[in-house]
Amino acid sequence: MPHPQLTTRHHARYALLDERVIEDACVDTADGLITHVSARADAPALPPDAHTIHHGEVALMAGQVNAHSHAFQRAIRGTTQRIGASHEDFWSWRGRMYEAAAALDPDSMHRIARLAYDEMAAAGITSVGEFHYVHHQPDGAPYEVPSAMADAVIEAAREAGLRITLLRVAYHEAAPGKPAEGTQRRFASPSLDAYLTDTLDLAARWRGVDGVQIGVAPHSIRAVPRTWLGPIAQLAAEQGWPLHIHACEQRQEIAQSIAAYGCTPIELLADAGALGPHTTLVHATHLSARDLDLIEAANAIVCACPTTERDLGDGFLPALNLLQRGVRICVGSDSHSVIDPWEELRLIEYHERLRYERRGVLTAAHPRWWPQWEGERGVAELLLLMGARHGAQSIGQGATGLTAGQPADLIACDLTHLAMRGADAASLGAYVTLSMPTGAVRRILG
Ligand SMILES: [Zn+2]
Repeated sequence: MPHPQLTTRHHARYALLDERVIEDACVDTADGLITHVSARADAPALPPDAHTIHHGEVALMAGQVNAHSHAFQRAIRGTTQRIGASHEDFWSWRGRMYEAAAALDPDSMHRIARLAYDEMAAAGITSVGEFHYVHHQPDGAPYEVPSAMADAVIEAAREAGLRITLLRVAYHEAAPGKPAEGTQRRFASPSLDAYLTDTLDLAARWRGVDGVQIGVAPHSIRAVPRTWLGPIAQLAAEQGWPLHIHACEQRQEIAQSIAAYGCTPIELLADAGALGPHTTLVHATHLSARDLDLIEAANAIVCACPTTERDLGDGFLPALNLLQRGVRICVGSDSHSVIDPWEELRLIEYHERLRYERRGVLTAAHPRWWPQWEGERGVAELLLLMGARHGAQSIGQGATGLTAGQPADLIACDLTHLAMRGADAASLGAYVTLSMPTGAVRRILG
């Protein structure tokens, strides 16, 4: 490995940027940052101690962001597909997920998180937003080190080479006014003060560690009292942290909200001051016209998790309506039935094609954040922006992309992979976003 302070030049057949493809490309990195990107003919002279790596027939790209993960749920992949005689849906799946959560301790949490994160790294993901809620011992008592479970998850991400935003979940009740029960006691904070204190303690523990950030995550309006939402949002604003919340994944959740509060979850969040530009609404599957208005006005982000939503029979988000309003969409692998950021992205477009019975649905929306680039623009350019830039904004990790000044979170697509044969500069983005298997991707250390 070259010394991290020295310049490394990565030379490859292509570099895939947000708005264009560079042929015979050089990406220079030093001290963990990208310092230059251009065609080799235009690249600056290297300092004498620089190191050049010729990657050959690959396309260099920015790493992807997985904005919504529950790492431990990787443990139940393949175990929830034997459909019984009874009605199977999100809620019956949740019962089996709770059994897995009940069995965890810090060691097994670390092992399963490491497996999930290794799979993410192999699929082209370089940053993860971990929506972490298994905090306590099975009876609800804190561990001797209260952050033992969060620490195990963060360490697993670091070992896998991922940046992580640990979105520490607030959980208090089974449903509005109904105490947490059974496995939920492992998730629950006894009071708002306890939640805020534990979260600040976790942040202090990891402050200054490269690649680790903290955020807040009221689990859902089912699990967090209305009176908690404002103070949690206030803490996030004071600390400059992102706020994530599951919202409108299930119709039953909306019915519960209306019964308890007389409004939808999105209306409740807006009323509580918890809907803003640093809020990410995870799922946002079932939205009213009023919900869409509020999300647009707040400039909130929506995190779609299409592979999980299809596995659980949730439905899928109104992506065209959201983009027409300029709402930023990112993606997450959530329950990890599949870990494939490219599949998450392509399903956003493909679900809308099935709904509207036409092609090129998202590009027709012309969202306002889509830059006015020269030349033709297609769905690939739009999906790549969602995966990397919106994902990074969602988890509070700043910008990302293959440009000077950005972190050297590089990945490479193998152009000799059978699935990538035939890709050229004009079709590379479409190959990557719509056809590439994760087996064609590998991490490049900057
Ligand atoms: Zn989730």
